Amino acid sequence: MSALRLLHSESIATLDFRRRLLAWYEANARDLPWRKDRDPYRVWVSEIMLQQTRVAAVIEHYHAFLRRFPTVNKLAAAREDSVLAAWSGLGYYRRAHMLHAAAKVVACERGGKFPENAEGWRQLPGIGRYTAAAIASIAFREPVAVVDGNVERVLQRICGEQIAGEPLWESAEIFLDRERAGDFNQAMMELGAMVCTPRAPGCLTCPVLELCLTRGELLGGAKAVPQKKREIHYAFARRGDDVFLVQRARDESLMAAMWELPEISRPKRRTVPSFTLRHSITVTDYSVRVWPVPAPEESRGQWVAKEKLNRIALTGLARKILRMAELV
Ligand code: SF4
Repeated sequence: MSALRLLHSESIATLDFRRRLLAWYEANARDLPWRKDRDPYRVWVSEIMLQQTRVAAVIEHYHAFLRRFPTVNKLAAAREDSVLAAWSGLGYYRRAHMLHAAAKVVACERGGKFPENAEGWRQLPGIGRYTAAAIASIAFREPVAVVDGNVERVLQRICGEQIAGEPLWESAEIFLDRERAGDFNQAMMELGAMVCTPRAPGCLTCPVLELCLTRGELLGGAKAVPQKKREIHYAFARRGDDVFLVQRARDESLMAAMWELPEISRPKRRTVPSFTLRHSITVTDYSVRVWPVPAPEESRGQWVAKEKLNRIALTGLARKILRMAELV
């Protein structure tokens, strides 16, 4: 019989699980800036930044973003270019567009007041089931469970099953400590990030080792997706400290309206690239060559002065190249 069917929210095993996990979290939680208070705006910004971005990179940008937009009203009133510029370096710019759009809804249609439950949060642009539950449980103590990649892995290993979809969310609800939902959800994610890691989990230091049916990697898990390889070429036209950049279209699905170097085909002439670098986006590893060009052939671009480069929204790759050229 499935281990999950033997559990219910008040079984001795689930009560023991909560007690052990929360005690471990209190003693071992990382000291992260967004854990210092339960302010919904800060929790929301951190949750959006943490989607698809490493904790270390988020820490770097979190304070600067909040200094620039300290309240939801300030964020709502900002120009989109400023929001994208502040997001520069975090990647996945659709999140910044959605954050900005949701801030406008909160400021203009809700008088600056945030929803207080997960259902309300899900009505806002860019907020899915996980994010809504995370914000509602952390900022408003709503007893609602979260499932992200870390929680999924922990639950599957604890139960010894490849559960997915709705049964996974149901199992998260069974384990949830309803009195301390925000702490419990963060503790589950922390356990997945720090101990129950995808490869070589640290079972010997795990607070719920005795309650775990797998105690190691669960066999038959999803195979890692192999990375694709691609070569791309960019034109690097420089006039003193000015550099020629193009702006991506506003309706692009990725990195809309952001600035970058013009992409070109590999030059036929035998020249040497100014820079070569590697850049990875999701499942593709790019081998990037940046070629010196005398004058741009692009009609949609413009010369941008060095002083302006930190104020416009650059793509992550453009920022990397300009850093190599010591322009940012
Ligand atoms: Fe993960 Fe090992 Fe802990 Fe089980 S015992 S939850 S596999 S770290």
